[in-house]
Amino acid sequence: MTTCLFCQIVQGAIPSKKVYEDEVCLAFEDVNPQARVHVLVVPKRHVTSMADIQESEVGLLGHLLFTCSLVAREHMIEETGYRVVVNTGSGAGQTVFHLHVHVLGGRMFHWPPG
Ligand code: 5GP
Ligand code: ZN
Repeated sequence: MTTCLFCQIVQGAIPSKKVYEDEVCLAFEDVNPQARVHVLVVPKRHVTSMADIQESEVGLLGHLLFTCSLVAREHMIEETGYRVVVNTGSGAGQTVFHLHVHVLGGRMFHWPPG
């Protein structure tokens, strides 16, 4: 039994509000949303973070980002704008060490981020 939270969500052992799924990834609503739309896109296979990605896995990254665009389209945040974030390492705010892409939209964003 894995101790990884997002592996457990992928396996259905922990419930989530699923918004998209295919053979490679799962997208579900963040339990503590930081915007009106806040979805996490995760690979089904355990990958710790961007720091773990090999050149042979660029296709996985492309798939995750393309899925973010589908999620944004589905939630109708394309026109107002949205942000795609991958926190990498605890210094950047990563708290769950299973690669995930945040899709945030439905409010104004500022730059630089906090
Ligand atoms: P990080 O800080 O690692 O970039 O993002 C982790 C995200 O996972 C946070 O936004 C947090 O709210 C979310 N999260 C933590 N635990 C759960 C959970 O059990 N279910 C869901 N859906 N999201 C979670
Ligand atoms: Zn995992």
